[in-house]
Amino acid sequence: MPLAENDALSTIGASGRRVWLYPLRVVGRFVRARSLVAWGLMAALFVAPWIDIAGHPAMFFDFPHRRFYFWGLTLFATDANYLLFLAGTLVFGVFLFTAVFGRVWCGWACPQTVFMESVIRPIEQLIEGKPSQRKKLDQGPWTPTKILKKSLKLGAFLVVAGATATTLVAYFLGRNGVIEAQFAPGSHPIGTAFFVSMTAIFMFDFTWFREQTCVVVCPYGRFQSVLMDADSLTIGYDVARGEPRGKPAKVRPGAEPPAEPAGDCVDCKKCVQVCPTGIDIRKGIQLECVNCTACIDACDSIMDKLQRPRGLIRYTSERALEGKKTRIIRPRVVLYSLGLVAVLAGFATAVTLRQPVEIALNRLVGAPFVQLPDGRYQNQVELRIANKSGHDKTFEVELLSPPAAELYTPIPTFTVAHNAVQKFPILVRQVHPGNRSSTFALKVKDAEGFTETIEGVFLAPDRE
Ligand code: SF4
Ligand code: SF4
Repeated sequence: MPLAENDALSTIGASGRRVWLYPLRVVGRFVRARSLVAWGLMAALFVAPWIDIAGHPAMFFDFPHRRFYFWGLTLFATDANYLLFLAGTLVFGVFLFTAVFGRVWCGWACPQTVFMESVIRPIEQLIEGKPSQRKKLDQGPWTPTKILKKSLKLGAFLVVAGATATTLVAYFLGRNGVIEAQFAPGSHPIGTAFFVSMTAIFMFDFTWFREQTCVVVCPYGRFQSVLMDADSLTIGYDVARGEPRGKPAKVRPGAEPPAEPAGDCVDCKKCVQVCPTGIDIRKGIQLECVNCTACIDACDSIMDKLQRPRGLIRYTSERALEGKKTRIIRPRVVLYSLGLVAVLAGFATAVTLRQPVEIALNRLVGAPFVQLPDGRYQNQVELRIANKSGHDKTFEVELLSPPAAELYTPIPTFTVAHNAVQKFPILVRQVHPGNRSSTFALKVKDAEGFTETIEGVFLAPDRE
């Protein structure tokens, strides 16, 4: 049974084979604004590992040292609880954003759209020309010109893919690590494997998969239909204004005007020619639409030529297209907003209560205690200090209890650099052989008023 018009993907032909798209590039107010946003986002992505904020790269997932630098914020492994808030913010933020703004993310900020529409397609058009020229080139024989153009295009795509993969690797290896890995791939085998795989995935996407990522693979595109409703912002065609489409019939002077006047759509199909997912927005709102705004600019340019008002295709809502008023406040928006506020309040509380210093006592591996020549027992422990404040701190340690013990530290004070974790060996000894206490307490303090008491277990043969 043949599929209904809107049940078939525009990029899959009747035989089931891929229909290759040659979208026309259009320039208009939305495409210009989108390009500005895209270049801003790409600039942030590319510079983040190479610039320093507060002495560290703006973005760096430093797994060996269990630290994460995010635009001036430093998170330690012990801050993993923040991830819970981050996940909650992401979930409720995405729910709320999608319910209100629909697929604005897809059109304006998704890396797939950003790279395809602002980098890859412009490069393709620059090298291979307009859609009709590209189609002719693809269908023509392999001449030297075709080989040259295809090689140039692949080379340019490879540069973009390689640069993007290098940047992603720098997020994990750091800038020194990524430079080392580029010059000596064997020095960072995992980083090199990641670089090669990411470059291959980007090339697959840029050269062949393209809009199929949005149409077939992207999970966000799939579940948006659940999150959106008739009041969500979307890009739509105004049927009431546009139909019946077609060129307006010329009415001779004195003749009867047509029974049904023509709508504003002149059926030029420019909105279809510019669509990167190959759909006709006039058939209604469709899952393949990534809200790229190209059809708005294309149709506005036609309306300008015809001296008709812009906005036959525009940002609107399904409800508005039915001639009703769009509702901003509705149950799902209230529910998602409450969830988001609760998560953000929890996050703000956690950040406010965050201790700038974390102290821990660890037992040293190997010899937890030793007996000194005079018969006393000595415990060796490691004091771990995490300084999460924005400046270096110097700490002193004193033994609070028991009185029958004494503390020996190799250095009188411990200085820990900002956003660093340092470990210091310390020794706790009995004052006299035979004095046995099962625990000891240390007081760690700094000159700025930080004080924390920490307890440890004193090990001796009868308490091993
Ligand atoms: S229908 Fe319009 S907004 Fe949607 S993907 Fe196509 S051109 Fe972009
Ligand atoms: S661009 Fe506008 S006028 Fe042309 S076919 Fe599309 S909706 Fe109709």
